[in-house]
Amino acid sequence: MIVTRFAPSPTGFLHLGHACAALTAFEAARAADGSFHLRIENIDLTRCRPDFEAAIFEDLRWLGLSWPVPVRRQSEHFADYRSALNGLDSLGLLYPCFCTRKEIAEEIARADFAPEAAELSPEGPLYPGICRTLTTEIRRARIARGDAYALRLDVAKALASLGRELIFDERGHGANGESGIQAARPEIFGDVVLARKEMPTSYHLAVVVDDALQGVTLVTRGEDLFPATHIQRLLQGLLDLPTPVYAHHRLILDRSGRKFSKRDRAPTLRNLRQSGATPEDVRVMIGL
Ligand code: GLU
Repeated sequence: MIVTRFAPSPTGFLHLGHACAALTAFEAARAADGSFHLRIENIDLTRCRPDFEAAIFEDLRWLGLSWPVPVRRQSEHFADYRSALNGLDSLGLLYPCFCTRKEIAEEIARADFAPEAAELSPEGPLYPGICRTLTTEIRRARIARGDAYALRLDVAKALASLGRELIFDERGHGANGESGIQAARPEIFGDVVLARKEMPTSYHLAVVVDDALQGVTLVTRGEDLFPATHIQRLLQGLLDLPTPVYAHHRLILDRSGRKFSKRDRAPTLRNLRQSGATPEDVRVMIGL
C-alpha cells in the first residue's frame, strides 16, 4: 500500500508552497487507494508554536484534506530519536564536537587548512573536521567540565562501515531535475550534526525515524529537499530502516521567480481564504 505524508513545521502560517506539498502527498495516496499521514515537525521548540499548529489543521481541512491516522507530533517522540542516536553511537559513528560557529568559520578562513574546508555542503560550509580527531581523553575531560557539544556523524567512517553503494529511487525532480535511480552521496553534507543539547535530534534523524515508524513508502516534498535525501539515505542504511521511493516536486515560485517562504511574507492560505479564494482557486494557482 502507498503511504504518503505531509510534514510541516509549525513556525508560521501555511502558504502556497505548503499547499502544493500537502495536496501532492494527499492526491498520491488517494490515487493509489493508499494512506496519507500528517506529521508535525516541531523538534525546534524555540521556533514552533501551538497556534501555528492549530492553524495548519484548520487550513488543511479547508483545503479538503483529511488524515485518518492520528497526527504524529515529533516533540512527543524524542525517545525514539534518542534510541536511534544510541544505535549510531554504539556503532562508534558519532563524535562530540565542541566547536562554536565562530571557531568553524575561523578554521575555514585559514588558508593553510585542508582544501575540503572551503567547500559548501547543502546546509552551509562543510565542517572542517576539527573535533573528529580529538582523543578520547580530551573528549571525556571536556564533557566532564561541562563544555557544550553537538554530536556529529563521522560520514566517512559510516560509509566505510556499510561498505556498499547506497541508492534511492527518485520519481520526480531529482538531480538536475531528472528522475531515476540515484546514487546517494552523503559526503556532500560532511559530518552532519545529529543532536545538540537544546535540540536532541536533527531534522534528518527525526525524518528517517518517523518515515520508517509511520510506514511511509512514498516521500513527496519540494525539490529544495532533494539534496537532504543523500544524507537521509545514509541514515536509513546505518539504522537498517527501509528506504521509501522519493518524488520531489517543483517549487511554487512567486511573481519574481523566488520560492515562497515564511520570511518573505508570502501570501498565506488564510490571507487567500479571507480575500475570497476557494480551495479550487488554490489548486489552480499551484497547477494541480
Ligand atoms: N519539515 C520540513 C519542512 O517543513 C519538511 C520535511 C520533509 O518533508 O522531509 O520543510
